[in-house]
Amino acid sequence: MARLSDPITILKGIGPNKAAQFAALNIHSLRDLICHFPRGYEDRTKLVTIDKLEVDKPACFRAMVMNTPRTAHVRKGLDITKVQVADHTARLNITFFNQKFTTNQLQYGKEYIFYGAVSGDFIGYNMTSPSFEALDAPPVTTRRILPIYPLTAGISNAAMSKAVRQALAICDVPEEIIPESVRQRYGILPAQRAYYAIHEPASLEEAELAKRRLIFEEFFVFSAGLSLMRAARAGKRTEAYQNTDLQPFLSALPFSLTGAQQRAIDEIMADFRKGAPMNRLVQGDVGSGKTMVAAAAAYCAAKNGRQSALMVPTEILAEQHHASLSKLLIPLGIRVGLLTGSMKEKDKKMIRAAISEGGLDLIVGTHALLSDSTVFSNLGLVIADEQHRFGVAQRSKLSAKSSDPHLLVMSATPIPRTLALIMYGDLDVSILDELPPGRQTVDTFLVTESYRPRINAFIRKQVEEGHQCFVVCPAVEENEELNIKSAELWADTLQTAVFPDLKVSLLHGRMKGAEKEAIMSAFARGESHILVATTVIEVGVDVPNATLMVIEDADRFGLSQLHQLRGRVGRGKSKSYCILTSHSRSTETLQRIKAFCKTNDGFRIAEEDLRLRGPGDFFGQRQSGLPVFRVADLSCDLQTLKDAQAASAQWIDDFGTADTPEANALRSRISSLFATSGGAMN
Ligand code: ADP
Ligand code: MG
Repeated sequence: MARLSDPITILKGIGPNKAAQFAALNIHSLRDLICHFPRGYEDRTKLVTIDKLEVDKPACFRAMVMNTPRTAHVRKGLDITKVQVADHTARLNITFFNQKFTTNQLQYGKEYIFYGAVSGDFIGYNMTSPSFEALDAPPVTTRRILPIYPLTAGISNAAMSKAVRQALAICDVPEEIIPESVRQRYGILPAQRAYYAIHEPASLEEAELAKRRLIFEEFFVFSAGLSLMRAARAGKRTEAYQNTDLQPFLSALPFSLTGAQQRAIDEIMADFRKGAPMNRLVQGDVGSGKTMVAAAAAYCAAKNGRQSALMVPTEILAEQHHASLSKLLIPLGIRVGLLTGSMKEKDKKMIRAAISEGGLDLIVGTHALLSDSTVFSNLGLVIADEQHRFGVAQRSKLSAKSSDPHLLVMSATPIPRTLALIMYGDLDVSILDELPPGRQTVDTFLVTESYRPRINAFIRKQVEEGHQCFVVCPAVEENEELNIKSAELWADTLQTAVFPDLKVSLLHGRMKGAEKEAIMSAFARGESHILVATTVIEVGVDVPNATLMVIEDADRFGLSQLHQLRGRVGRGKSKSYCILTSHSRSTETLQRIKAFCKTNDGFRIAEEDLRLRGPGDFFGQRQSGLPVFRVADLSCDLQTLKDAQAASAQWIDDFGTADTPEANALRSRISSLFATSGGAMN
């Protein structure tokens, strides 16, 4: 028997090269393979008769070969094999292209099971390149429910399926972690059955049950983990801050706080005075002014002799926060520093020295803050901005740099209440439901390619009025996928062919940190008119002079993502616009985008996103700060999440400290889900 942790290279047919291809899907071990779940199924269990075959609707049928297959070599690289088959209802002409081997496989007078669709082009029944199997062959491509896997270059569905089957045959599936009582209560399949059934379901109903079990399992582990964290924290004490007078800070602000900002800040100050570590989420739509809330918290921590770390997901954002917070806080006597991965080693060293000697009060940075070489002298407050980009593990890791610091996480992804309960089950929440005064709504339009001249004219008009434009494309390079705009090519086209007299710049995620930063800050200084970018600009960037956001192939983005992108404009005094283009002909897609055009309310958009895509996708790896959910691609219903949450809470009460194999297995699953750093469970 093999172990789940064994590398997939122990399987037949998987050498180092294949393994590298699997690695692109994050599949390294047998466990990864067994946990690579199908994204859907094709039901090939039903057999039809030839006369019932429908055009372009593939189906299985049983038929006899009526002649000896003949292959004609048409020209170099093109062999055509023809054969006729029949059942009691009709005859069918089959053509194979470059599948000469079929000549030997299909024998005159024998019956086979085929899977294919008839084409509508000719009179009579015709079919090209169906799959087929002998009656006594094991069902692989016919007579079964075929799992359809997420794939990557070099790995076909058949190859994936075969690898998974092999893995299931040589090792045990992941152990059971859901107690029998819970399984019975919620109608959940046992692990053993679910892991087989998800890959090899006997029926679509069984596949559905397996899927439900696996989703339940993931959320069960996740919410049990959150509950354990909360329980572990409940008894913690920390020094209460004596000085929570924010008057000097408030007087230094160039504006007065919104009511919502004031409330959030009051809540934070109350937490600070309590003498227990704060765990608070500040959730507010793009532009609601979360940075000021963070600044107030950091100011207060500094006045109580404690350091703050503000962690942000991108270097650009770190730069920007550093600049704006320095401007505000340095005059108030707060020492502000910046630490990012792309800084020169020498500079990083200097900053790190200042951090460890207590020479800085607020450090703004990227993941570089998490590195072991960053040591704080007395970290009192950890702030994670754009929390949806961070994992629970990352925020824990930063918290672990001090004993029980206060934690403030800020998120602009408005998460529907139900999901927030699950994702942030361990946090208190402050909501910024008010935008600073004077903000205008961004007028949003969906247009087709025929509007291109008008879009270009509109860009020019904005620039002539002294403003700047963002143009977002779904891809970086050309040819990643046909027919969608790539930032590189489009920037070039705009610069050379459309706006030769303007300055067009390009920004994408594959650029080096320093390069990105230079381009972004040049744009922020007004040195280029049009910034063509990928979604790297999605998060937080603030250029108040930008008044137009053009999003190419908008159907490629999720609604919440579109909302984030749109939030990059309308940040200044001037009227701002968002133009979406799409080639999509799907009415559903277009309706979805049109609905988006009509509202600026992030919460409503998130609810809509949730309704359309299901929480699975909402929790999609890229968007969420959650641990990676394997079932993320499978849609699931909220009830399952709620059940899992209720069940896990009960579990903590009943078995939280039990020393049974099942309970131990669950605890170890929790720790690996929440990553491995020592502080992960704090
Ligand atoms: P987000 O919540 O998206 O992080 P920011 O903190 O970046 O929003 O704030 C967006 C803009 O609004 C910034 O330019 C900021 O200076 C400004 N701002 C924040 N609070 C207020 C306020 N109370 N009144 C006016 N402008 C504000
Ligand atoms: Mg922000």
